[in-house]
Amino acid sequence: MPAVIHWFRRDLRLTDNSALHESVRSGAQVVPVYVLSTWKKAHDWTGPLRQQFLCGCLDSLAKNIEALGSRLIISAGKAVEELEKLVHETGAGAIHFNRDPDPFGKEVERQVEALCARLGIRCCGSKDVVLHEPGEVLTGGGQPYRVFTPYSKNWLALPKMRTLPRVTALGPAAMVDSLPLPTLAHWDLKLPEQAQLLAPGERAARERMKHFIVSGILAAYGTKRDLPAGQTTSSLSQDLRFGLISIRELYARCQAHAAEHPAAAGSVLTYTKELAWREFYMAILHHFPQVLEQDFNETLRQVDWPGTDEAFQAWAGARTGFPIVDAGMRQLLTTGLMHNRVRMIVAMFLTKDLHCHWMRGEQFFHQHLIDAEIGSNNGGWQWSAGTGADAAPYFRIQNPWTQTLRYDPAGEYIKHWLPELREVHAPRFCEAPRDGRPLAAGYPLPIVDHGVERERTLALFAAGKGR
Ligand SMILES: Cc1cc2nc3c(=O)[nH]c(=O)nc-3n(C[C@H](O)[C@H](O)[C@H](O)COP(=O)(O)OP(=O)(O)OC[C@H]3O[C@@H](n4cnc5c(N)ncnc54)[C@H](O)[C@@H]3O)c2cc1C
Repeated sequence: MPAVIHWFRRDLRLTDNSALHESVRSGAQVVPVYVLSTWKKAHDWTGPLRQQFLCGCLDSLAKNIEALGSRLIISAGKAVEELEKLVHETGAGAIHFNRDPDPFGKEVERQVEALCARLGIRCCGSKDVVLHEPGEVLTGGGQPYRVFTPYSKNWLALPKMRTLPRVTALGPAAMVDSLPLPTLAHWDLKLPEQAQLLAPGERAARERMKHFIVSGILAAYGTKRDLPAGQTTSSLSQDLRFGLISIRELYARCQAHAAEHPAAAGSVLTYTKELAWREFYMAILHHFPQVLEQDFNETLRQVDWPGTDEAFQAWAGARTGFPIVDAGMRQLLTTGLMHNRVRMIVAMFLTKDLHCHWMRGEQFFHQHLIDAEIGSNNGGWQWSAGTGADAAPYFRIQNPWTQTLRYDPAGEYIKHWLPELREVHAPRFCEAPRDGRPLAAGYPLPIVDHGVERERTLALFAAGKGR
């Protein structure tokens, strides 16, 4: 029986992996491969933190595959060309992969499908990244949803796929050349000195998932998830992004927890709805791919965004003088992550206080986040700017000072990420400095007056709306 190629993409695990399961079920020798991109650091859409996390995940995957007596083949270049070479070298009769939800991934899949048709071999794409693909969750009239609540009701009610067992055999290693496992040098990137990365790989992600569920964080999620200090959320977004855990298993474990602990059921439902937001934004991206180039809300496409480069750089460099904003940006630059509430605050600040176009923030986040997900990131930015599907209305502008009072009143989050403010009395983080003096030597004064900029935003939207 000819070998089958398993093309790893954003599914870097052996447990509950749909396409890998199919590859093994075929009974053929499985040739596992990962194709590295070859762009260098001029690329604006990723950076060292995410690529380092990827390197760690590949390292761990390769070890897990070796433990089964096989070997992960690493190649670099255009996926379709690398896969064609591998088909010729191994005589494979099929290429298996898990389908990618984003437009770039789908374009590569079309090329691979055409390749398989040309070579006369099987092309097997599996559903794996989501519980429900965009075409499964439609209105009664077969149309895509534009707002979340009816989407989520439909999504929650649909039956969910069962989990699959961990793969325990892959057949002998294929005798073909492989590149070494990558390091950041492959992309000409270097880790920043302050970097603090989460542990990569399937085992570390599984530990995070278990910790989230058994330690009480899930049970308290409904009441605490908006507080950015300490761990109040699952911290699993990067693990879902790289497929270190399966969405099916995460969902099933949460439901099982709710069944065993009825008091946690409300929190589990709240958490499950967040998982639905992830798929809602993937569905928006699928049905309305133009969101990558323009506002979802067509009536707002003529709004001006006169933000300056200087303002953008202050935001990007965590030097705005708004402690909650700077703490969030510091967390991003250090870890490649940011708490969701703070993502909303910094995104609204960039768009509504500094008047920079949301696309600038979207690109910066995508470059720095280790959980960068095209749909969620675009959705989060358009939500914050007020231009997106089911977005915050543009006139509802969050005040960073009162947001701080509400979500970080003791300044724990701020002091953690801005240690230079450790000695400052926390209430001072909740209003612009009254005495006109900086909070600490070297820390900037607020670069704008929120009240003034709020009025300016309302005027800009009023002038551009429906223009
Ligand atoms: C401006 C902006 C940009 C964002 N960019 C991304 C991104 O690139 N990648 C990303 O995964 N999330 C993004 N989010 C959503 C959210 O902030 C993160 O998913 C969350 O902070 C990850 O932490 P967690 O795993 O602890 O989340 P939890 O609160 O534990 O949520 C569980 C899971 O649900 C999903 N989720 C939660 N909230 C959202 C949401 N609002 N939209 C979509 N999915 C959600 C994530 O997969 C997350 O892991 C963005 C939000 C905003 C406001």
